[in-house]
Amino acid sequence: MASVQDQFRAYLAKHNLKVTRQRQIILDAFLSSPSHLSAEELYIRLRKKHPNIGYATVYRTMKILAESGIAAERHFGDRQTRYEPNTGEDHHYHLICEECGNIVEFEDLQIDFLLQKAASAHDYTLSHRRLEIYGRCPKCQNK
Ligand SMILES: [Zn+2]
Ligand SMILES: [Zn+2]
Repeated sequence: MASVQDQFRAYLAKHNLKVTRQRQIILDAFLSSPSHLSAEELYIRLRKKHPNIGYATVYRTMKILAESGIAAERHFGDRQTRYEPNTGEDHHYHLICEECGNIVEFEDLQIDFLLQKAASAHDYTLSHRRLEIYGRCPKCQNK
């Protein structure tokens, strides 16, 4: 399988976009940061070490990463687009704290099974699934 770096370069070449140092830095930062960051959060993380990289560049590069299939876009009800590595076949689910925005990922074979069953019951084949559960995290409950 092609590496993420190869995938990135191939996508840029195909769309006549240059492999710039800034784009490369943003890709590396995305891959080494915690999951579910917005473009703005990634920009803030980058700013200290790379003050020459502007928010617009981070924003556009994250769009490129999403279009190329390297990143998956997620929306968790706060109007922010968040990104996580797109690992294709895995299907994890999300718990989102409505107070502090903390996001927990989990996997659950029983949920997988139930979603598969629901699709089959309607004669659908299942391509991907998405589940978000909103509530309050343990920290916020104890405030
Ligand atoms: Zn919380
Ligand atoms: Zn996730």
